[in-house]
Amino acid sequence: LVSRKWKVNPSVVDLGDGVEIKQGNFTLMAGPCSIETEEQVEKTIAHLVANNVRIMRGGVFKPRSSPYSFRGLGIDGLKMFYAKCQEHGIKIITEVMQVSQIAPMYDYTDIYQVGARNTQNFNLLDELGKVDKPVMIKRGISGTIDELLYSAEYVFSGGNEKLMLCERGIRTYETASRNTLDLNAVPILKDKTHLPVIVDPSHGMGIRDYIEPMALAAVMAGADGIIYETHEKPEEAASDGAQTLNFAESEQLVKKLRATYELR
Ligand code: PEP
Ligand code: MN
Repeated sequence: LVSRKWKVNPSVVDLGDGVEIKQGNFTLMAGPCSIETEEQVEKTIAHLVANNVRIMRGGVFKPRSSPYSFRGLGIDGLKMFYAKCQEHGIKIITEVMQVSQIAPMYDYTDIYQVGARNTQNFNLLDELGKVDKPVMIKRGISGTIDELLYSAEYVFSGGNEKLMLCERGIRTYETASRNTLDLNAVPILKDKTHLPVIVDPSHGMGIRDYIEPMALAAVMAGADGIIYETHEKPEEAASDGAQTLNFAESEQLVKKLRATYELR
């Protein structure tokens, strides 16, 4: 069902208030890796509003390699994050890690993000298929393109067609960067599926100074949108600071991304 053989026309994910994720409408989503404080959320919103970015990212349930790392503010943090964004007309995308979180999150999220560690959590995908709310599925850490498409098929076939895909880098033998952003996936996915394709250069690269070139390359590869991490003080971020842009870098990236998109 997610194949272009079944549906030729590109899908549109409508978030309301004039925010539509679709081919031909370049989407930007930006924000911290983790939601930390009210002040952090307010400052990020001001930065996004100033740059006309309509979707803020931020996790409250964080999948961390070590159980001793910061694991997120949980549902109370999500309520604060959502309320602040709503005041300013900003939509939010945030990660859902397990089935039991879907219902409590429902009233406080605009897009459920399925993280790379949960791409093949088929119980989670089945349940998201029953929900009337957009979902973005990230590619698995060692997942193939076809596996990502099958994961999408779980949600779509369950009845939830408000779906998009995200290339976020895969684990390879290369150690010079955190992951290997697979830009091959972009034209292949665009050809194979009618779903919007988003690229996450932050997790794909993992190194702040190299986020911009990969984000621009992703646009030229055909991405329908970019999701990236930004924080007022990346060096103080609770997670993923090394791949997080400060607001000046983020502003510059937004300008270059839009100019690059115009060239396409
Ligand atoms: C994130 O978006 O902060 C995240 C944990 O991403 P991924 O699932 O791609 O690692
Ligand atoms: Mn992160």
